[in-house]
Amino acid sequence: MDFAFVSGNPALDLAGTVRSRGDEPVDLLATPADLERWVAECDGLPDGVTADFAAFESALSLREAVYRLALDRVLDRPFDPGSLEIVNGTAAGPVPTVELADAGLRMSGGILAVLSQLARSGIAVLADPRARLKECGRANCARIYLDRSRGARRTWCGMDECGNRVKAAAYRARRRASALAESREPGEAT
Ligand SMILES: [Zn+2]
Repeated sequence: MDFAFVSGNPALDLAGTVRSRGDEPVDLLATPADLERWVAECDGLPDGVTADFAAFESALSLREAVYRLALDRVLDRPFDPGSLEIVNGTAAGPVPTVELADAGLRMSGGILAVLSQLARSGIAVLADPRARLKECGRANCARIYLDRSRGARRTWCGMDECGNRVKAAAYRARRRASALAESREPGEAT
């Protein structure tokens, strides 16, 4: 399965690497190589980063801590202290180096700098009282995203991921219902 970068924030996208948290979770990060691929595909992170198993474990605990804190925000309850400790501790690590070049911004750093950068961007969104964090409207998805739309009317984490699936399911349900109604009509007439 492909990674989705639809949450509007890299830390929330990391949390979204567990799909369908609502019913049958699918973990897209099964190995350090998966994490390396995710980091390479995510915008705003250093390129060519390698991850050993210890860093992989740290990434997974950061991911679950970010998800828990984002859920705390969505449910408007106090932050889980253990998750705060993980996110704050990770953010205190080394940060990526940024350089200006003719080609634009160049960012470099190892996996620990990547995790620290992710924790920092998670903190930035979770600390922002105006950030509208929402849980996807497809119940089984449970992905948390940042709604930046005008009027905050976004319902799905992404149209491809969930919006179109829900709409297609609703369409099929309507078709079934009307087919059922048609098949019942002769019976009802007698
Ligand atoms: Zn969704």
